[in-house]
Amino acid sequence: MSVSRRGFIKLLGAGTAAMGLSRLGIDLSPTQAYAAGLKIEGAKESISICPFCSCCCNVLVHAKDGKIISVEGDPDYPVSGGGLCAKGASLKSLHNSPERLTKPLYRAPGATKWVEKDWDWMMERIAGRIKDQRDKDFKAKNASGAVVNRLESVFHLGSSQVSNEEAAVLHQMIRAFGIVHFDHQARICHSPSVPALAECFGRGAMTNHYSDLANSDAVLIMGSNCAEHHPMTFRWINMAKEKGAVVVHVDPKFSRTSARSTFHVPIRSGTDIAMLGGMIKYILEKKLFFEEFVVNYTNASFLVGEKYSFKDGMFAGFDAAKGKYDKSAWAFEKDDKGMVKRDKTLKHPRCVINVMREHYSRYDLDKVSSVTGVSKADLLKVYEAYCATGKPDKAGAFVYALGWTQHSVGVQNIRASGLIQQLLGNVGNAGGGIAALRGEPNVQGTTDHALLYGYLPGYHNTPTANYQTLGDYLRAYTPKSADPMSVNWWQNRPKYFTSLLKSWYGDNATKENDFGYSWVPKMDPGEDYSHLYIFDRMYKDQIKGGLCFGHNPCQSIPNSNKVRKAWDKLDWLVIGEVFHNETTDNWRRPGVDPKKVKTEVFLLPSAYRAEKAGTVSNSGRWQMWHYKCAEPLGKSRSMGEMFVEVMNRVRDLYLKEGGTFPEPITKADYPKTFDAEAVARRVNGFFTRDVEIGGKLYKKGQLVPGFANLKDDGSTSSTCWVYCGGYTEEAGNLSKRRDLTQTPMQAKIHLFPKFAWVWPMDRRILYNRASVDLNGKPYNPEKAVIEWKDGKWVGDVPDGGQPPMAMKGGVYPFIMQTEGHSQFFGPGREDGPFPEHYEPAETPLKVNPFSGQMHNPVMKVIKSDMDQLAKNGDPRFPIVLTTYSLTEHWCSGSETRNGPALLEAEPQQYVEMSHELAKEKGVKNGEVVIVESLRGKTQAVAMVTVRVKPFTIMGKTMHLVGMPFCFGWTKPKCGDTTNRVTVSVGDPNTSIPEYKACLVNVYKATKVTEL
Ligand code: SF4
Repeated sequence: MSVSRRGFIKLLGAGTAAMGLSRLGIDLSPTQAYAAGLKIEGAKESISICPFCSCCCNVLVHAKDGKIISVEGDPDYPVSGGGLCAKGASLKSLHNSPERLTKPLYRAPGATKWVEKDWDWMMERIAGRIKDQRDKDFKAKNASGAVVNRLESVFHLGSSQVSNEEAAVLHQMIRAFGIVHFDHQARICHSPSVPALAECFGRGAMTNHYSDLANSDAVLIMGSNCAEHHPMTFRWINMAKEKGAVVVHVDPKFSRTSARSTFHVPIRSGTDIAMLGGMIKYILEKKLFFEEFVVNYTNASFLVGEKYSFKDGMFAGFDAAKGKYDKSAWAFEKDDKGMVKRDKTLKHPRCVINVMREHYSRYDLDKVSSVTGVSKADLLKVYEAYCATGKPDKAGAFVYALGWTQHSVGVQNIRASGLIQQLLGNVGNAGGGIAALRGEPNVQGTTDHALLYGYLPGYHNTPTANYQTLGDYLRAYTPKSADPMSVNWWQNRPKYFTSLLKSWYGDNATKENDFGYSWVPKMDPGEDYSHLYIFDRMYKDQIKGGLCFGHNPCQSIPNSNKVRKAWDKLDWLVIGEVFHNETTDNWRRPGVDPKKVKTEVFLLPSAYRAEKAGTVSNSGRWQMWHYKCAEPLGKSRSMGEMFVEVMNRVRDLYLKEGGTFPEPITKADYPKTFDAEAVARRVNGFFTRDVEIGGKLYKKGQLVPGFANLKDDGSTSSTCWVYCGGYTEEAGNLSKRRDLTQTPMQAKIHLFPKFAWVWPMDRRILYNRASVDLNGKPYNPEKAVIEWKDGKWVGDVPDGGQPPMAMKGGVYPFIMQTEGHSQFFGPGREDGPFPEHYEPAETPLKVNPFSGQMHNPVMKVIKSDMDQLAKNGDPRFPIVLTTYSLTEHWCSGSETRNGPALLEAEPQQYVEMSHELAKEKGVKNGEVVIVESLRGKTQAVAMVTVRVKPFTIMGKTMHLVGMPFCFGWTKPKCGDTTNRVTVSVGDPNTSIPEYKACLVNVYKATKVTEL
C-alpha cells in the first residue's frame, strides 16, 4: 500500500499512532519511534495558504497549545509540490513575531504616542466618526443635478490581503456608505491586465495556469523576474526547458531568471512595445502566423471603418480640448443588418490585419534597436526563437508581471503580447496564453470582488450619473451582436447585475424599486477616483477621513513625500494591520513633529492568514480554501470580523438616530457576524423563491448550481457571478477539494481538474475552444485540452458548451467578446486600437524616432506644487531608474521586514549600477549614495554589478539603475522608500503609476544619515 508524504506525516506526527500503522501493510516501527520525538507530535495539522505572491503555495500548519509550531509546504498542492520560497519558509516566525500588533491602539490628534484601548471603545468611536462625516458630506446630487448618492470626503484603500469572503463584505459596506474613493493594490500592481487581456480575449485574467507552463515550447518572460518574485512559476518553466523549450528573458537587468533561461536580453525600461512591435512586423513579413487560426478566430478579417487613421503617433479622433480620444472613430464597418463586414481573403486594405501591417511597418530593426538598446542580433534571436511557435503543434507562452504593468503604456504593453499570441495561434492551447503573474496574495480574488472604484463585483462597471435607472445602466452595458454565431456572453449582464443587487439588498430589492439601484453610489462620468487622485485630493484638503486595511500607501505610492504630507491632513483614519509600518506610524516619521499632526488614528490588530478561514484565488483563478489553524494572536481579529462590526455599528446608529440617506445601510442584507463559510455561500448565490428550470424545481434558499441559472427577475442572488457554481448543494464547497486524480489526457498537460475550484465553471484553460479546429479536433493532439468526440466535448470544461464552429449550432470560440472573435484591433481602450511606442513620462531622449508624439498623449498626469516632471533629456537627471521586488521581501515589505531571517538576507536599501556608471560617478561598491529626482531624494548602498549594463540608445551611452521597492523608514533603520523619487503619472486606462521608469541622478553621499 502506498501513502502520500503528507498522509505519512499526518499519521506519524498528529498523534494518530493508535490508528495502527500496521494496517498500512508496512513496518514503520523504527520511524514511529523517531516520530515520537518529532516537534509536531500531538499538534493539530491544518492547511493554510502563504499570504504573499499569487502562486498561493498551500502550507501545512501545525499548532499545539494554541501556538503555531511548524509551517511547511504542502506536497499535495500541484503548483508548488511542497516547495516554498524564503518568504513562505518564514511564515512561522512571522505569525509568532513579537512585532505583531496584538491590541487595538489609539492615537489622539497631536499625541506623541499610542495608547491601548479595548475593541468596544474603538468600534463605537469609529462608527461615530464614519456616520458624522457621512451625514455632513453626503452628496445627493452632482453639479449637473443628477442623483449620485455618494460620499467623496471619505476613502477606502486596500486590501488584497483579505480573503474573497472578506472582500465581499467589505465591498458591500463601502458601497452602502456611498464611498467612491475606493481602491486597492490591484491598481498599483496589475490593474492594466484586466482591460488589456479583456480587450484581446474577453476576460481580464491569466489565460492558462501555472502548471500549464510545462507544456510550452517557448516561454518569453518579459516584464517579470519570476524565478525570484513568483518562484513556483519557475518550477514549471524549468520543466518545459528540460523537455527542450527555449526560455527567453527580456529584462533591463540580469537576474536569477536570466541565469536559468536559455538566454537573457537586456532592454531599456519603457521600450517593450517597440520590441514587440518589431516582432509583429517580423511575423507578418515572414508569414509566420497561424493562418487558419487568424482567419477564423480573430478579428483580422474585420473591416475597420473609414474614419480610422493613424498619423505621426496620433490615432484618429483626438480631442485636444478634452485630452481624450473619441473612440467612435475606431469603429468597425457594419452592413445594414448590423453585422461587421469581413474579408476572409484578408485582401481588403482596411482589413484589420492590413491596417496592423501598415501600423507596424515603421518598427524596423534599426529603429527598434536604437530605441530599446537591444542589438539587432539579439532582436532577431528573440524573434526567431519565439515565432517558431506559430505552428499548430507548437505553443509559446508570455510571462509578465509589474515590469509591464507599471508604465504609462501599461495596458498596451500587455496588448502587444496579445497581438503576438493571436498571430501565432497561442491562445486556448496547452502551453500557450499569457501568464499574468498577479502580485499580491489574493489580488486575483479581490479584483474579481472589485475592491476598485470603477467596478462592482463580477466586472460590472460602477454606475455613473448619466445612468439614473437600472434600465439605462443595463442598456448601456449590455452588448448586442447581430451575428447568430456569436455567443456574446455579456448579453447576460442583466442576470448577473440583478443577482448582485438581490445579494446586497435581499427582500428590499424589488422590481418596483429597480432592485435598489438608486442606493448604489454613482460616479461622475469619466472621473478618476484611484490612488493617484485620492492622494492628490487629500493633499488639497478635499478628503477628511478614511479606512486603510492591509495596505502601506505611505511607502508604496509614488512621490511619497507628497503622499505622506497628504496623509497628515486627514482628520481621522482607521487602519487594520498585522504590523506597524510607514502608514500606521506616518504621524511620527523622521523630521515630523507629531504634535502638529492632527489625525486621529485607530489602529486595529489584524489576524494573520493562518489564524482565519476563507478562500483566496491564485493567478490561475484557482479558488482555494484555507483553514483557521490557530486563534488570532493576542486580541487581533480577522478583517472580516472588523468590517462586519463596523457596518453593523453604523447601521445601529442610523436606526437609532436617523441621518442622511440611510437606506443603503439600513436596507442592506448584511451578515450580523462574519462566517467565511456562510459568506462563501452568499457569494455563490441562492434562489430567492421556488423556481423551476428545465423541469427541475429549485427551492427558495437553495444554492444556485451555476451562473447559467442566474436570472434578472429577482429570483436569484449572487454577490459575484463568476464564483457562482463553486458552492453547490450536491458537492458542497468545491474550493476545499484536494483530489489529484486525472484522466490520461489531463495528466499529459498537467491539468488537475479536481483540485480546488476554478472560475468560470471550473474551466482550467480559458478560450480552450480556440485550441481545436473548426470540427473540434485539437490542433495539437499530443497536448489536447479539449476535443469534440461522439457529439460532446471531452477534456477540460469547454469555454462554451456549444458544438464546434463547423457543426450545426456551432459558435465562435471567444464567447465573452461581442463579436465572438479575439481582437487585434481593439476599439475600446483609451489610448488607441493598437499598441504604439511612446516614451515614458520622463525620458532621457529628446525625440521619439517612431513619431512626433513623445509621450502617451492621454496618460494621466497629476499636477500640484509637489509633482514636477523632468523635461525630455533633462541633463540634470540623465539616468533611468527602474524598480523591483526581492525574493525575501514582499511588496512594501511591511510584513517581511519583520522576519529576522528575511531581513538578514536582504537587510537594506540599495541601488544596482553598472561598473561604468560607478566609475563615472566615482562610487565604489558598498558606498552610500544619494538617488535624486525632481520629486526628492533617497539614500541607498551602491551595488556595483555586471547585472546592469549601459545601453547604447540612438547612438549614445545611457545608464539605468535599479532599486528594490520594499524598504521603508520604520525598519530596518537604513534607507527609506524608493518612492521618494518616483512619478505621479499613470496609464490612461487604469491610472497605474509609472514606477518602472523615471529620471534620476546618483551621487556619493557626503555623510551617512537618515533622510
Ligand atoms: S511567496 Fe509565493 S512562491 Fe513564495 S512561498 Fe509564498 S506563495 Fe509560494
